[in-house]
Amino acid sequence: MTKLADRLHIYKSKLFDLIHDDMSFNLQQTDNLQKWLRLIKECLGFEKAFLYKCTKSECFLQGSTEEQGNDGTLSRKIFELSFGDTPYFMMDCRDPHFHFWFQFRNDMEETYVLLIQHSDGQSFDEDCLSPFWKASDQFLTLSWNVQKVYEEERRYRELFKVTEFFHSNRDVQTLLVQIIETLGEVFPEDEFRLLLSNDRYDFGTLPIKSFDFEKANPFAMQAFVNGSIELDEDSQTLYAPLRGKQGIYGVLEVGTASHLLFNEQKIEFIKLLAYTAGSALENAKLYEQSKRLISDLQLINETSHQLNLKFRLSDTLQFLKKQIERSFQPSAIGFVLNEPNKNKLVILEQSSSLFFTKEGEQYISYVNERINEERDSIFLGDVSDRIGDPGYLSLMAVPMTQNEELIGFCVVLHHDPYMFSFDMYKLLQSFIHHSALAITNATLREELEHMVITDHMTKLFARHYLDEKMESAMKEDDEGTLLLIDIDDFKAVNDNYGHQIGDEVLIQTANLIKEVVGESGSAARWGGEEMAVYLPYVERDEGYAIAKAIVETVSCRTEPGVTLSCGLSSWVKGDESCPSSVKELVKKADEALYIAKNHGKNQVVEDLDARLLIKP
Ligand code: GH3
Ligand code: MG
Ligand code: MG
Repeated sequence: MTKLADRLHIYKSKLFDLIHDDMSFNLQQTDNLQKWLRLIKECLGFEKAFLYKCTKSECFLQGSTEEQGNDGTLSRKIFELSFGDTPYFMMDCRDPHFHFWFQFRNDMEETYVLLIQHSDGQSFDEDCLSPFWKASDQFLTLSWNVQKVYEEERRYRELFKVTEFFHSNRDVQTLLVQIIETLGEVFPEDEFRLLLSNDRYDFGTLPIKSFDFEKANPFAMQAFVNGSIELDEDSQTLYAPLRGKQGIYGVLEVGTASHLLFNEQKIEFIKLLAYTAGSALENAKLYEQSKRLISDLQLINETSHQLNLKFRLSDTLQFLKKQIERSFQPSAIGFVLNEPNKNKLVILEQSSSLFFTKEGEQYISYVNERINEERDSIFLGDVSDRIGDPGYLSLMAVPMTQNEELIGFCVVLHHDPYMFSFDMYKLLQSFIHHSALAITNATLREELEHMVITDHMTKLFARHYLDEKMESAMKEDDEGTLLLIDIDDFKAVNDNYGHQIGDEVLIQTANLIKEVVGESGSAARWGGEEMAVYLPYVERDEGYAIAKAIVETVSCRTEPGVTLSCGLSSWVKGDESCPSSVKELVKKADEALYIAKNHGKNQVVEDLDARLLIKP
C-alpha cells in the first residue's frame, strides 16, 4: 500500500485535475459530486463515501459512491454532539466497520462526509486525517465559491430578465404572478409571501396576502413604514419593502429554509428584486389609475352632457340613478331634497324603497345631521358604530349645493362593509356636483311650470291649462264630461262680508271641488267666481253624479254658506249628437249653467235638459 504522503499527493493532484478539466466545476451537479466522493474514497483507501447536506434541523443524503444510498436523513443533533475541536472524528460502531466523519462548513452551507472502511483495513490517526481534511476543505471552498459566482450570475440574469418584463407589463395581476415565479426560481429552497397594502385582487392560491396593519409582524411593519430591509433573526425571516418612487406598496417576506443566516449578497439581491418589483408595481398602478381616471372623466363628461339634455327632474334623477348603479353596484340609493320654506326633507320617488321605511329613515337622519353640520361628503366603510343595528354597512353621501346653498343630498349604501373604494367616492362626488345644477334647473323649471298652470288664489289649474287638456282629450280620448260651475249670488257675499271673506269662500269652494273630484278629473278657475271641471273618460251619468256631489258638498260645508249652479255637457267619439269641439262643449255647458241659474240655482243641469228647456 502506498504511503499516506503519496496518497495525499495523488489526491491533491487529482483534485487539481477535476478543476482543471472543468473550469466551472460545481458540486451542485450530482456526477461531479460523485466524482469527488469516489476520489476521496479511493485515495484514502475507504470502501464507501456518503455526503450529507444540512438544513436547520436535519441532514439529508445528497450523494454517495454507492448505487443504493444509506439511510436518507439524519438529525443534526448527532453532529452537534459528536464533533469536538476537530472537524473530523471516528464513530464507535459495533459492526466490523469504521465510520469516519468529515465536517465542512462555510457561511452558506454545512456539509458532512461519511467514509466507511472495514475494521481490518488500515487505521487512521489525526496526523493523517488532518491534511486530507484540509485539502478537501480547500477544494470544497473553491467549488463553493465557483458555485456562488454562478448562482449569483444566474440570479442577476433572472433579475435582468424579470426587470425587462416588469417594464413592458402594465397589468398588476400579471406582474404579481411574475414576481412570485421569479422568487420561486431564484430561491427554490425559501418560502416567500407578498404582503400588499391596499389591493383588492383575487389572488387565488398565490402566496399574496393583504398587509394587515393591526396584526402585522413588527419587523414587517418596520419595513413597511421605514422602507428598510428588516431581518427577524429568531425566525430567520427577511422583510424587504416593495418600494416605488411615490410610496411603499407592500412587503416581500422571505423565510429561509437553510439553517444558516442570510448573507450579504442574498440580502442585497432580495433588496434589489423588491425594489424592482416595487417600482414596476408603482408603474402598473399609476397606469391603471390613469386609465381609471380617463374612464371616470369620460363617464363624468357623458353624465353632465346627458344631464344638460334632461329637462325634467324625474328624467335627471332616473339617469343619475342609472349611472350610480352602473358604477358602484350599490344596494340602495337615496335622493333627498330640502324643501326650503318648510324646513322639511323630501325623499324623492326615484330613491330605493328602503328610504321610505323606518330603517331607511335612520340613514337619512344621520346623513342629514352630519351634512347640515359639516357641509361635507361622508365616506364610511362600516357604519355599525354610528347607526344601531344597520342592515347596510358601507355608506357614501354627497351634499347637493347650488350657489353655496344646500339643496339636498344623495346617499348610496351597500349591505357589506368596505364595498366602496375611495375612487368610487370621488366619482360619486363628481356625479353629484355635476348634477346639482341640472337638479336645481329642473326643480325651478317645474316650479315655474306649476306656477304658470296654477291659479294663484285657489290653487286650481288656470283656465288655459284646462283648455289645452280638453283639446288633447277630445283628440285622443273616446269620451269625457265638462262641468261649468258658478257660485250663486256671490256678489251678496262680498257685499255682506267684504271681499276678503269672499276670497276665503272662493278658496273653500275650490278645495271642496278638488276633494270631490279627486283623481277623476282636473278642476280649474274659469274666471271670477266661476270654475270648471273636466272629467276625462267619464260618461254623462257618472259626471252628473260627481256634479251633484260637488253641489251638495259645497252647500253643506262652506262658511259662510254658499250654493253652486252647474252646467254639464259631455261628448262621445263618433256620436253626432254630441259636441265635436272644445268650443262647442263649453258652449253647451254654459247654456246648461244659464238654465240652472234661471231655474232656481243650487242645481246641476245637463246640456240635454238645456236643449229641452231652451226649446219652447
Ligand atoms: P249669480 O248667482 O247670478 O252668479 O250672482 P252673482 O252675484 O254670483 O253674480 P255676479 O256676476 O253678479 O257677481 C259676481 C261677483 O263675484 C262680482 C265680483 O265682485 C265677485 N268676484 C269675482 N271674482 C272675485 C274674487 O276673486 N274675489 C271676490 N271676493 N269676489 C269676486
Ligand atoms: Mg255667480
Ligand atoms: Mg259669475
